[in-house]
Amino acid sequence: MIGTTGLIFNEPLLWEMGAEGRTAFSIPARDVPELPLDAALTGDGPDFPDLSEPEIVRHYTRLSQWNLSVDSSMYPLGSCTMKYNPKTNERQAGLPGIADAHPLLPVALSQGLLRLMFELERWLAEITGLDAVTLQPAAGAQGELTGMLIFHAYHADLGGPRSKILIPDTAHGTNPASASLCGYAAVPVPSGPDGILDPETVARLMDDETAGIMVTNPNTLGLFEREIRRVAEIVHDRGGLVYADGANMNALLGVAHMGAMGVDVLHLNLHKTFSTPHGGGGPGAGPVCVTRALAKFLPVPRVLEKEGRFALSNDFPHSIGKLHAFYGNFGILVRAYSYILSLGSMLEQVSRYAVLNANYIKAGLRDDYHLPYDRPCMHECVFSDKRQLAYKVSALDIAKRLIDYGFHPPTIYFPLVVSGALMIEPTESESKETLDRFIEAMRAIAREAETDPELLHQAPRNAKVRRLDEVQAARKPCLMG
Ligand SMILES: *Cc1c(COP(=O)(O)O)cnc(C)c1O
Repeated sequence: MIGTTGLIFNEPLLWEMGAEGRTAFSIPARDVPELPLDAALTGDGPDFPDLSEPEIVRHYTRLSQWNLSVDSSMYPLGSCTMKYNPKTNERQAGLPGIADAHPLLPVALSQGLLRLMFELERWLAEITGLDAVTLQPAAGAQGELTGMLIFHAYHADLGGPRSKILIPDTAHGTNPASASLCGYAAVPVPSGPDGILDPETVARLMDDETAGIMVTNPNTLGLFEREIRRVAEIVHDRGGLVYADGANMNALLGVAHMGAMGVDVLHLNLHKTFSTPHGGGGPGAGPVCVTRALAKFLPVPRVLEKEGRFALSNDFPHSIGKLHAFYGNFGILVRAYSYILSLGSMLEQVSRYAVLNANYIKAGLRDDYHLPYDRPCMHECVFSDKRQLAYKVSALDIAKRLIDYGFHPPTIYFPLVVSGALMIEPTESESKETLDRFIEAMRAIAREAETDPELLHQAPRNAKVRRLDEVQAARKPCLMG
């Protein structure tokens, strides 16, 4: 059985529910004199709805059922790595000694928490093949900014700040944004006909004004940058640095050594690769790993260890400073720590299955969808809507129709180098049966495109919310629900 049928509840706003005086808690009888609350909370103050506990629980549970989620179905959103998040990680992050710890606890009372950070840094260094790590950045994009600030500090330290950064045309939009936030001009590098970087092109663009390059490997076409070592050599020879956007590390865990590829700085997305829930904007964590030579620029405070005791130090005069309050999004660090600890050396299997699953989908859909770069892929595969466009069916229509079949749509219209892209990342979490169901749904949609394009233009038909008018939503956003 694939697809969706059945019951989705309508749900009013909280303000349209409940009854005056109804509450979700009871407090003991008062044994002190009654005092008037501040005027802001009475009379003309905010109009909080009066609701019972079951009303609140059902309200939010019902709203959660309006969406497809990682816990309800396969979520092949390319580049975002929406893998299943094991519940044990939540359990560890919720332990009272961890969840209730205050960031201002003295060092003597937070030895376990500091040890967790210290060990997580060591493990991430080992997994990436780099030497030193900061856990502070709150997202991949903030990791990129950290990396760019480190690039800048490095060149300034040598007495020659530079003004440009090379960025391949397959890059995620955050790469040029982070570079320009840091004052760098982003210079686009066109990829070669096989979808990867051509060292000749990099050599032509690299000069003494260029601080370095930002590369995503595997890139956003799901292809391994085979020439990465030569590219790194070219950039290093002209005094530049190599930044790796590690958002796609789910393809390489324990399999490839980013340090050996010539990478100087790399960010990880713990909320993608290391399995902490994400979506809806966070919270996340984007640790940054660097070579020994760049360690002195990392943000402070840093966790130090001496004879089994852990301490925090701000004594790093070359540091780029602080990027986040306290130590970053600590709860996310705990989930990643738990994930790594529970998998141990099996972490490598994560990437092997992720790559296998993506290639299985690629093979399963190649007869029905156009494949712009026909090479073995890494953890994601990119198709396009080229064949379906002949029937006036677009990537958007295909994506929306998948919802009727009970799957979250893939990423569409990215990477920009593929017109009408459908970027599918199944992750390692999915069983063969689920992958087969997904392939079957995609093939059914390809047939529908030929026989009943109008059906696809109307999709989704079974979801709570039908096709939205996205232009209207962008031009006249209604923020009231
Ligand atoms: C997700 C992603 C980013 C940005 O990471 P955030 O954590 O969303 O800020 C950067 N590059 C690539 C390739 C990504 O997939």
